[in-house]
Amino acid sequence: MKIGTKAVHAGVEPDPSTGAIMTPIFQTSTYVQAAPGDHKGYEYSRTHNPTRTALEKALAELENGTHACCFSSGLAALDAIIKLLRPGDEVISTNDLYGGSYRAFTQVFAHYGIQFHFVDMTNLEEVKGAVNDKTKMIWVETPTNPLMRIIDIEGCAAIAREAGAWLVVDNTFASPYLQNPLDLGADFVLHSITKYIGGHSDVVMGCVVVKDAELDSQIRFIQNACGATPGPQDSFLVLRGLKTLHLRMRQHCVNGEAVAKFLADHPKVGEVHWPGFESHPGHAVAKKQMRGFGGMISFTLKGDKLEDALSVLSNTHLFALAESLGGVESLIGHPASMTHASIPKEQRMKAGLKDSLIRLSVGVEDAEDLIEDLKQAIG
Ligand SMILES: *Cc1c(COP(=O)(O)O)cnc(C)c1O
Repeated sequence: MKIGTKAVHAGVEPDPSTGAIMTPIFQTSTYVQAAPGDHKGYEYSRTHNPTRTALEKALAELENGTHACCFSSGLAALDAIIKLLRPGDEVISTNDLYGGSYRAFTQVFAHYGIQFHFVDMTNLEEVKGAVNDKTKMIWVETPTNPLMRIIDIEGCAAIAREAGAWLVVDNTFASPYLQNPLDLGADFVLHSITKYIGGHSDVVMGCVVVKDAELDSQIRFIQNACGATPGPQDSFLVLRGLKTLHLRMRQHCVNGEAVAKFLADHPKVGEVHWPGFESHPGHAVAKKQMRGFGGMISFTLKGDKLEDALSVLSNTHLFALAESLGGVESLIGHPASMTHASIPKEQRMKAGLKDSLIRLSVGVEDAEDLIEDLKQAIG
C-alpha cells in the first residue's frame, strides 16, 4: 500500500459495536472484567487504550515497522529509549541536535552514568572514531535542527551494526512521508508527533516505532512501568491529523521550495539552509534517503547582525513567532534564544549556529502570500 492510502486507512477499522467509521474516543481509565483475568484485552488505560491502540497501529504501518508505542511527548519517547541503557553505556549523537534532546542527555541522563559523545555526523569517519566497546546506541537526527544538515542513515546503520549498537533516528523533521529510517537499517524511529504527524499545533505527543517484537516489548514495558502515556482525546486528534499527512507534506514541500528559492535570490539574505538545493552539502544523501525536501528552512542575513534578525522576527504577519514546527500554519523562530537556548553559546557557535540564524517552518498557506510576508519583513 502507498503512503497516502496508509495515511487515510492504517490502523483504523469501523467500531465493531456501532459501525462508527471513526475510532471512538475511549475516555475511560478502566475496563470491566467478567471474572478476574477474563477481559477483552484491556485492563487499565496506562497499559492500553483502544483509541491509542488504533493510533499505534497506524504509526507502525506508516513507518514500515511492526509496532509503535505512543508517549505523552517526544521527549517522553526519548526518555523511554534511553532507559534501555545502563550506567557505563555510551551514546554517540550529533552536534546539531534538538535542544531538548541535548538537555535531557547532558543534564538528566549523564547523571545516571550514561556518557554522550556529540560529533559532526555528516562525517561518518567522526562517528566511527567515537565508537568504543561501551557504545550501545547511535542517535541520529536528520535533517538536523536548525541547520538542516543531512546525516546518512544507511552509513550510520552500518557503523551501528559493526559496533553491536542500536541505531535510533529522530524522524521528526522528515515525517514518515519523506523518510522511513527502519527501511534504511534503524532499530528505533522516534517522532515528536507534536510536529508534522499531528500537524495542527494542537497536541503534544511522541512515539517510538520498531520492527522487532522483542524491542517493542522492552519499550512497552517502560511505557507501562514509567507511565508517560498520552490520553485518548489526544490520540483521536492525531488519528484525525494523520489522514491528511500526505496532502500536507506535499504542500509543505512545494511551499518550502518556493520560499527557499525566494530567500536565496534576496540581496539581503546570507546563507539559506534547505537540503533541496543542489549546492547543499547533504543534497545527494537527502536525495537518496528522502522522498522530498520538506518545509523547514533556516537562513542568516548578510552582515550577521543580531538586531537585523530580531527585526525580521518581529515584523512578519503570517509567519507567527513561536517555538515548534510542522503545523499547517507558518512559524518563524530564533533558535539561539528559543529552541536552542538550552545549549551553551560556546557549544552553539562550535556547531555553526549563529545568533542571527532564523528558522522557518513553512506551512500550507499560499506560497505567494508567504513570500510577500517575508519580503516586507526583510525590507
Ligand atoms: C520537538 C522535538 C522533539 C521533542 O518533542 P516534544 O513533543 O516537544 O517533547 C524532539 N526532537 C525533535 C527533532 C523535535 O523537533
